Amino acid sequence: MSHDAEESSGSGDGSGASVGRGDGADGPDWRPIFGHDEPYDDQIDGIETAVETAREGGFLALEGACGTGKTMLALTAGIHLVRDPDSTYERVFVLTSVKQQLRQFEEDLRTINGNLPDDWHPISAMTLVGKADVCPYNLAGAGGIDETNVYERCEGLRERTRGLTDETTADSLAAQARSQQVGLGDSGSGASYLEAASEPTPYPREMPEAGDSGVEYCPFYAQYLADLPEDGDPVEAVPFDPTELGLIESEDLVQLSAGHGACPHSVMGALLPHVEVLVGNYYHAFGESAHPGSPGTEGGTGRTNTRRAAA
Ligand code: SF4
Repeated sequence: MSHDAEESSGSGDGSGASVGRGDGADGPDWRPIFGHDEPYDDQIDGIETAVETAREGGFLALEGACGTGKTMLALTAGIHLVRDPDSTYERVFVLTSVKQQLRQFEEDLRTINGNLPDDWHPISAMTLVGKADVCPYNLAGAGGIDETNVYERCEGLRERTRGLTDETTADSLAAQARSQQVGLGDSGSGASYLEAASEPTPYPREMPEAGDSGVEYCPFYAQYLADLPEDGDPVEAVPFDPTELGLIESEDLVQLSAGHGACPHSVMGALLPHVEVLVGNYYHAFGESAHPGSPGTEGGTGRTNTRRAAA
């Protein structure tokens, strides 16, 4: 998580101590990032305190009533640091256990992007989602995958797909699944393309099989493996240009990845190190046990979650 965790934990020890040092108080102005016309005085104070605290590798606990603009405050301060070429912060990592707060961060990101100066790239952002949210088979209720088995089945399919690449290439596995689809169309039996998020994919609804013993595999994963560079950054396997997309929503991820034939969840993983803002649940950072009320975790109140929002 590089500096993200440091950003929210604000460690003053060795790892966090290097963050944001040396960039001074007179860095670029944060105001173009702030999504509304005029910040409240308390927001100005909060943003400047958050920026200053982060530059010093410190913690900031912020408390405020609903509707006082804490979300915009946290995003503005965090994005300002990430965009400041003199700061070493790389990413804002928002963690919340409350869906409504997650949606508020998304909403404020859209507002920020909608009001940035014309010559600025939009703030790249993504909400972390689980396989159940983006697996084309699960979304379509196809391939023997549903909400109850998507994680387990996916792991098995991925393992078998990797195993098959000992005998053949990932590229040919994906191509084989595409040709099964073409074959169906040619035979006049009526091609039935798997559709996900209203986007047709190049594969049939049934899970394809390969090899003499008919091993089931996932063609979306095969395509992702085929697109991965041998050396180099996995982002090269992302089948679309995220630069101008701003907030990448799960529907975009599914349409743009599965439409090309690649696994949306794998594509999400390749994109993670390249977006400026990640929005996720506690368990994305701390594992499934990190639910409100779990020992060692913080509760799910608005106050706690705002503290957790990177600034
Ligand atoms: S690899 Fe991707 S597309 Fe294939 S089953 Fe898993 S989540 Fe679904």
